[in-house]
Amino acid sequence: MKIIFRNIVLISVLMVFSLSAYDTVAKSRNEVIAAYIYLLSKNTKWPNEAGMKKFQIVIFEDDNSIANILKKMTQDLKLKNKKIEILNVHSLEQSLVKSAQVVFVSQQYGASLEKIYNEIGTKPILLISENIIDMNYSMVDLYENIKYRINIRINLQNISKHHLKVNDKIILLGGSKVDVSKLYKSSIKTIQEQEKKFEKYQTLNKKLKEELKHQNSKILLLKKDIDAKKKEYSHMLHLIKKKEKYIQEKEKKIIEKEEQLSLLQKDYQELKDRLQEKQIFLEKKIAEVQKAKEDIHKYSIILNNKLKNIDKLDQRIKEQEATIAKAKEQRLVQENQIHKQKLVLLLMGIIALLLLLFMIYFYANKKTLEKLNQDLHLAKDEAEYANRSKSIFLANMSHELRTPLNAILGFSELLLEDSKLSKNYKKTIDIIYNSGNFLLTLINDILDIARIESGKTVIENSFVNIKYIVEDVVSILKSRAEAKELDLKIEYINEIAECIEIDAKKIRQILINHITNAIKYSSSGTIIVKLEMKDKKLYLNIEDEGAGIAQKDLRTIFEPFEQVGDASSDTGSGLGLTISKQFIEAMGGSITVTSELGKGSIFSIIIPYKECKKSEIVVEHRALSLKKVIGATADSQHLKVLIVEDKENNILLLKRVLEVLPFEIEVARNGEDAVKLFQSFHPDLIWMDRRMPKMNGEKATKIIRSLPGGKDVVIIALTASATTDDKKRLEEVGVDAYTVKPYKFQDIYNLIKQFFKIEYIYDDDDDMVLKKESSYSYDRLKEEMALLEDSMLDELYNSAILLNKDDMKAILEKLSIYNRKLYAMVVEVVENLNYMDILKAVDEIRKEREGEKSEDK
Ligand code: ADP
Repeated sequence: MKIIFRNIVLISVLMVFSLSAYDTVAKSRNEVIAAYIYLLSKNTKWPNEAGMKKFQIVIFEDDNSIANILKKMTQDLKLKNKKIEILNVHSLEQSLVKSAQVVFVSQQYGASLEKIYNEIGTKPILLISENIIDMNYSMVDLYENIKYRINIRINLQNISKHHLKVNDKIILLGGSKVDVSKLYKSSIKTIQEQEKKFEKYQTLNKKLKEELKHQNSKILLLKKDIDAKKKEYSHMLHLIKKKEKYIQEKEKKIIEKEEQLSLLQKDYQELKDRLQEKQIFLEKKIAEVQKAKEDIHKYSIILNNKLKNIDKLDQRIKEQEATIAKAKEQRLVQENQIHKQKLVLLLMGIIALLLLLFMIYFYANKKTLEKLNQDLHLAKDEAEYANRSKSIFLANMSHELRTPLNAILGFSELLLEDSKLSKNYKKTIDIIYNSGNFLLTLINDILDIARIESGKTVIENSFVNIKYIVEDVVSILKSRAEAKELDLKIEYINEIAECIEIDAKKIRQILINHITNAIKYSSSGTIIVKLEMKDKKLYLNIEDEGAGIAQKDLRTIFEPFEQVGDASSDTGSGLGLTISKQFIEAMGGSITVTSELGKGSIFSIIIPYKECKKSEIVVEHRALSLKKVIGATADSQHLKVLIVEDKENNILLLKRVLEVLPFEIEVARNGEDAVKLFQSFHPDLIWMDRRMPKMNGEKATKIIRSLPGGKDVVIIALTASATTDDKKRLEEVGVDAYTVKPYKFQDIYNLIKQFFKIEYIYDDDDDMVLKKESSYSYDRLKEEMALLEDSMLDELYNSAILLNKDDMKAILEKLSIYNRKLYAMVVEVVENLNYMDILKAVDEIRKEREGEKSEDK
């Protein structure tokens, strides 16, 4: 811009001074000359322009005026893209001429022009003269014409001789007809073009700037991206390291486990020894029991004798009473006679005396009777006490034995699965396993007997399909029968009701006892389980074609420890039939047996039952998932749920179970509030507790059902007891379903699914996450377990002692709510079969607690 402006100034100077007279101001003339020098320099082409280091203009002039003007004019300009250097020369001695590009010789030095020209030789130097006549020694001459205008003359020959080229514009300027306006116009045009170009460049520049900005923001984004990637990468690296560490730990654990196994093997040996001791102990105890039995037998004989005595005494008392009655009658007669016959009075006195004597005799007899009764009571108490002590002793002992036995069974099962063990070794372990199993059945049987004898057998009826039970037991025992080439089958004599109310567990045990016996005591033939239903009674026959039982033994086989016939290697404890009979009788049924030696036996069982509807059958739960429900899928129904419950703990528990689901939950603490809330909250589902203050669940359900909309709401009862009567009453008031407390969380989720469209989301990683959260160690396990209440600790112990994953599910579910850390550790225990850790920890905690208690005292 500056340069363009400067050019305009220069051209305007030229214009002004070439068009008008300038002699009035001599200085202006010099300015015109300076402008010409610059323009001529600009429009001439040198052969070595690229090699120039600077652009030098030498001016021969005395007063420096042109040089000064030129300096000022060109101070920010360049020529041939080089800096302009203007040198003023006053004498010819100075030989600066040779290095210059342009030499201007003013009029004052006109005489020296030839000399200067010669000094230049053929060098490419533009020689400009002022006002000379002869053009021989000049290339361009600036002269004044008559109108005092500066004109130029050009000697093209001299110019080309010095290898220079002059632009056509300057050539045009040369000669007398200089048209400066033409030059001006072309300059203006150039300026305009340049301005246009400048504008173009400016917009281009703008565009480029925008593009740059855009690119910059892109770069910024890329940078951010790179940073994120870097972070991700470092995170991955961190994770990989963690994994590596985890693997290392696992490897370490495996080594530890191997060490533990060898320790366990040692323990196993010890346990075996202990078992032997226990067996001896058991034998001793059984002998003691036998003795106690004999004692009881003795006592019962004494008792019988005493009873006989009592009978006799009763007889005598009756006789006495009859006599007294007679005496009374006589007395009446005599009283009547007394009025009539005074004489008889004496006689009557004698009779009264006699009566007195009788009374005394009677009183004495009564005393004896009372004494006898007392003796009898004592004997009975003693007998009962002996029986109770026996039962308690048996129960305790079987529990004591069960603990090590479960360990023996569990670990021998583990060892049997070990592929590394030799065949021989396995055979031995198999024997231990089978013996252990036998011992366990024996203990269980003894316990059952103890329970029966102490009157603790409880009948637990449920709604079942009896066909399923029989088929299930038969399918379990089928392989045992097939191993002895026996044919085991079921026969249905008539139509079998689909739902009956009966104690399924006991029926199962009875069936197992009898079918196992039939298999045990048969070497060939068929075993048939016959099923018939008549008059609300279930007829079960177990028939075999085996060894049979001698007539004389038929009466004793139902006695405990009675084993008859040939002693075979495959006999049991002699308790099976006793238990069966007791169970059957407890259910209000009966059992009979017909048998013939060598031909087979028929055990006939009759048990009464109640009918039920097929829909009431309690289907056994599918294997309970340890997975936690953490929510419901998006398209699941959103429900309004009303919890009706008076106990805070129960409310909290149910809320916890439900709050993972997309439900709106309200709580009513009694039946009255439930009815009110039903009308304002309009729930889709009500969990109804039964026993509550103010109004119970049944009444509240009845009222809600009668209200508008009350028929549509799903009401599920939560009840602590579920006798048949309870269930009936719940049905009558219009409950849709019920579940028994303490419920499993899965029950709640399953019930909701029965009535509503809902899909659960399970936490697959839950166990993993938890495992990570709480790495396992015995000390940590014990520490967490020590926080449990006694009852929970007992439950954990009783579940763990069974060494079975399924038996741990109930307690695990509870722990998952009460103590997540402990839950995770117990899951690990179950997975790694570390049950002994739990048992050990419970033992230690119990001891510590007992210690604390006694200290408190
Ligand atoms: P065990 O455990 O010895 O089988 P049980 O109480 O079950 O004890 O049976 C008592 C005895 O009755 C048996 O020892 C056996 O002699 C006899 N017994 C039971 N069932 C049968 C049968 N189906 N055939 C022959 N004998 C039987």
